[in-house]
Amino acid sequence: MRLVGGTASIVSALAAGLPGGNIELNARVTGAMLDGDDVELSFIDAGGAEQSCRSSQVVFALPPRLLEATVSFTPRIDETSARRWRDTPTWMAPHAKFFALYDRPFWLEKGLSGTAQSMVGPLAEVHDATTASGKAALFGFLGLSAEDRASLGEAAIIASCIQQLALLFDSKTADVRATLFKDWAADLLTATDRDRIAAVHPVADRGPWVGEGWRDRIVLAGSETSARDPGYLAGAVHAAEGAAASLVARLRTTRVGGRASFEGNL
Ligand SMILES: Cc1cc2nc3c(=O)[nH]c(=O)nc-3n(C[C@H](O)[C@H](O)[C@H](O)COP(=O)(O)OP(=O)(O)OC[C@H]3O[C@@H](n4cnc5c(N)ncnc54)[C@H](O)[C@@H]3O)c2cc1C
Repeated sequence: MRLVGGTASIVSALAAGLPGGNIELNARVTGAMLDGDDVELSFIDAGGAEQSCRSSQVVFALPPRLLEATVSFTPRIDETSARRWRDTPTWMAPHAKFFALYDRPFWLEKGLSGTAQSMVGPLAEVHDATTASGKAALFGFLGLSAEDRASLGEAAIIASCIQQLALLFDSKTADVRATLFKDWAADLLTATDRDRIAAVHPVADRGPWVGEGWRDRIVLAGSETSARDPGYLAGAVHAAEGAAASLVARLRTTRVGGRASFEGNL
């Protein structure tokens, strides 16, 4: 099953409900510093300028391994939590996908499903990726490791994928109108060097993700931290619900104690 409009349609729908001006796009968080009852977040904005903002609570909605590798904490995160973040594989981060777009889904005309598994060639698993609006496409997961992909290079991989699809579906390489190759292991906002090696699926664990020092100020909401379906989209939704519940509980407590941060947003 796939979502009409792609998974970005979920993000757009959620963003549409947020107050205007509350979203900073294309910004990369680089550091978090405890300052009294606040956290000061440092980030690089879309124009490349260093910026910061303050808040009493911060939700980190990204894979814990990526958080540990790319965001510096002052004071440092306790070693038990840092090790747990580092040792939690980001599901599917070591993988890459290839898409080939066509004028029409010719495989259906031949009575073929568009699905294939192969022990030979760069693509190990192929599926029909034709969109709901009828744009014909096949996509496949690469069977090559991140190391092999890096040494082969994108151009050679794409040429080889096109040839394999032509062979599998009895078509011509020239039938391909456009291609899209996405290597998540090389995506700095998804994977770290540790994700270059395929790992087991993350296991659900209800233990705390944040220890002494930071536990009252930050919440982790990446899918991998979910107690249900970690690593999956469903896990991301579940982790977000848990993070929202923790935040509301904390803010209620601080308000009872006299502090009323975020009052307008609750
Ligand atoms: C190849 C592949 C195939 C997959 N297939 C499936 C599937 O079939 N079914 C399924 O359920 N799940 C699948 N997944 C997993 C699914 O994508 C994840 O479960 C889901 O995206 C996790 O959502 P998330 O919000 O926790 O984190 P993410 O989607 O990883 O979102 C984290 C966000 O944080 C941003 N970010 C990272 N670092 C920073 C920073 N320093 N500052 C600011 N922003 C930052 C990133 O750009 C990203 O937008 C797949 C993943 C991959 C890579």
